[in-house]
Amino acid sequence: MRIEEELKLDFQDVLIRPKRSTLTSRSDVDISRQFVFRHSGHRYHGVPIIAANMDTVGTFEMARALSKQQISTALHKHYEERELMDFFQTLPEAATVFYSMGITREDYEKFCRVKQGVGDAIAYVCVDVANGYTKSFVDFLHRLRDAWPQITIMAGNVVTGEMAEELILDGADIVKVGIGPGSVCTTRKMTGIGYPQLSAIIECADAAHGLGGLICADGGCTSPGDLAKAFGGGADFIMLGGMLAGHDECMGEVAEVEGVRKVRFYGMSSRTAMDKHAGGVANYRASEGKEVLLDYRGPVADTVLEILGGVRSACTYVGAHKLRELSKRTTFIRVARQLNEVFGQS
Ligand code: 5GP
Repeated sequence: MRIEEELKLDFQDVLIRPKRSTLTSRSDVDISRQFVFRHSGHRYHGVPIIAANMDTVGTFEMARALSKQQISTALHKHYEERELMDFFQTLPEAATVFYSMGITREDYEKFCRVKQGVGDAIAYVCVDVANGYTKSFVDFLHRLRDAWPQITIMAGNVVTGEMAEELILDGADIVKVGIGPGSVCTTRKMTGIGYPQLSAIIECADAAHGLGGLICADGGCTSPGDLAKAFGGGADFIMLGGMLAGHDECMGEVAEVEGVRKVRFYGMSSRTAMDKHAGGVANYRASEGKEVLLDYRGPVADTVLEILGGVRSACTYVGAHKLRELSKRTTFIRVARQLNEVFGQS
């Protein structure tokens, strides 16, 4: 056993210090980014936010709505092949939509059939497992990269610099970072495993950027300020689940509780998701996600405007004309957290 004494930070542990700025209005800030991916060589231009590949967030409807604002979507894994082909064949060329998959033989074979059916309409793939540290995951990534050199691969999840480097060298263009911070994730409670998300972002971004790779901060953002902190910490992309949940485009079940419209939102490893997609929780595993009822929030476009407004404003506070400059202009100040925030109120 070893104890690491170095301080690790979450979003709530810091604020961003304001800096002298020549910007006069938020509207002067450019929050799009351009990247050329390390392996695929593909050029990207957009607002680097991605709707999470959860079945109540990463829907076709979400992808269509968000693409109007140049925001990306990672589709959930549970669509049928035919539905996926129809969707990708009608997708506007400029939209950035990730096809998501796990690492089983069936996942791969399904991907190959859909990809062969739609050709270049699938340019982005998200390979997603709860634990990105396994040999089987790394081997899969190698095989996928060898077979499909031109696709842009986002892979994860990991939380440490050395594993971010490993995944980039194995073929990932974007490493997905985050274990345990998700709003409906119970991994930290169920297993004790995790890593404070802001430190994971800072350390993985540093490692990935050194190799010409990129990272996507996945999970734990609960407000536009958290996105500003994630970008400030070096995230190239940010994946959002809870902040985009509860909208019309989520296609979630709507319930009425004491006269208020609510929408079901649940983790992809929750009992709800496993009952729905895997015929229940297998007896060798425990669920690592929970279900919550969120207030219904209407169309996602309004929420997106609020999120982008917050990020733009953060840029003006530190004098960043472009989102690309935010990280360089970020100085985090540590704030003391109340004990009851850390441990919950008794
Ligand atoms: P949020 O933006 O809601 O805080 O986090 C979204 C992320 O939580 C997803 O992109 C995914 O990485 C993670 N996630 C989704 N469902 C589950 C789950 O059931 N268990 C765990 N451990 N993580 C989940």
